[in-house]
Amino acid sequence: PVGNEPGYCELLSDFDNFYTRRLYHRIQDCWNRPVCSAPGAYITLPERLSDDYNLSFKLTGKTHRCLNLGSYNYLGFAENHGPTIAAVTDATLTYGISSCGSRATAGNTRDHVELENLVARFLGKPAAMIFGMGFATNSTVIPALCGKGSLVISDTLNHSSIVQGCRVSGAKIKTFRHNDPDDLEAVLRHAIAYGQPRTHRPWKKIIVIVEGIYSMEGEICRLAEIVAVKKKYKAYLYLDEAHSIGALGATGRGVCEHTGVSPDDVDILMGTFTKSFGGVGGYIASTPELIQYLKSVCIGHLYANAMAPPVARMVQTTMKIIMGEDGTNDGQRRIHQLRDNANYFRRRLVEMGFVIYGDNDSPVVPLMLYYPCAIAAFSREALKRSLAVVVVGYPATPIIESRSRFCLSAAHTREDIDKALDAISDVGDVMGLKFNA
Ligand code: PMP
Repeated sequence: PVGNEPGYCELLSDFDNFYTRRLYHRIQDCWNRPVCSAPGAYITLPERLSDDYNLSFKLTGKTHRCLNLGSYNYLGFAENHGPTIAAVTDATLTYGISSCGSRATAGNTRDHVELENLVARFLGKPAAMIFGMGFATNSTVIPALCGKGSLVISDTLNHSSIVQGCRVSGAKIKTFRHNDPDDLEAVLRHAIAYGQPRTHRPWKKIIVIVEGIYSMEGEICRLAEIVAVKKKYKAYLYLDEAHSIGALGATGRGVCEHTGVSPDDVDILMGTFTKSFGGVGGYIASTPELIQYLKSVCIGHLYANAMAPPVARMVQTTMKIIMGEDGTNDGQRRIHQLRDNANYFRRRLVEMGFVIYGDNDSPVVPLMLYYPCAIAAFSREALKRSLAVVVVGYPATPIIESRSRFCLSAAHTREDIDKALDAISDVGDVMGLKFNA
């Protein structure tokens, strides 16, 4: 809408009026309504009775149960899971929900400190710190690490929280071609030779930022080659493991374990608790000196309320299960189940003739739709078949690379996956999406 037309609002930028953004609100999909259950292998959605896309629902009590391929519940801990429920209940009785203060003031509890020690031990780093939000971890830690006179070299497809942190930092930002160590080397060589701007002044420091698994591509970082380049040029490496920690590696230690890289070769390990751990929040693991420094300068630590203590307890519980410290092999079983599910699902989709992005072993499986106009139709057709899927388009992807991004979980059984594959095959036939058939 423009001018006096109904719905016009000066506060919205012109960009938000662009049709691809408005499109998302119009999609009658599974997510455009409040979910009424845990984000497990299945989710419960209310029946949508209104065509008004301004989130007005008539909740009649009628619900629709869907197979869920959209949540980041990689290891299946997000559903009703006995040990975590007991841990959260106990911590809630001890602390309540909010510690009503930042970690730097009255909000620091014993469970926060214990989680930090556990994260460091899990990752094989000497020290770690935790944050209440993964997004705020990147967006406030990166500006604490570098500023004017420093250079950040960032993968072109890095997550928006990294982009935000880089922009706020004031450092010079350069990008390198997605997951391409040769291009990283070319950018580094050029940057070191010419400095900024057009002088030979060296950078205060150079930080390379990459992700373990790219969440829209399902690709695994070429970490060993990137580490070799960063060592050659004496740069620092910051690795975001939001999607890879817990999900990759024989024991869930992420992309370092998966690629045989020592955690010592990555200067700053970052990750989140929102995916494999079924919780909320983020972490940074590094040297004790750096962690101590961040605790004294990082605004996300100093000025934000601490993570809810029951969450800190919950994440310790799932992390210990992954580490086998609960005395069972449940963690190992989940890691293997996730990998089997992801590889089977990916292989079957390729055999059907779909164009699938990403790597084996990655639980993120993007199926290419290409055309923006296919986004809503794919979502609607999947929902008709009781399948909840995430669809993505511009600006999260290039405009002609719209896709449906599936996330596999250890909570899915082989029967669930076969059911999902049948439904997707059917949608693919209806929409003509089997480009390689
Ligand atoms: N980094 C990456 C790579 C992510 O994909 C995300 C969100 N999915 C975040 C950081 C932010 O984490 P959170 O959602 O836990 O705040």
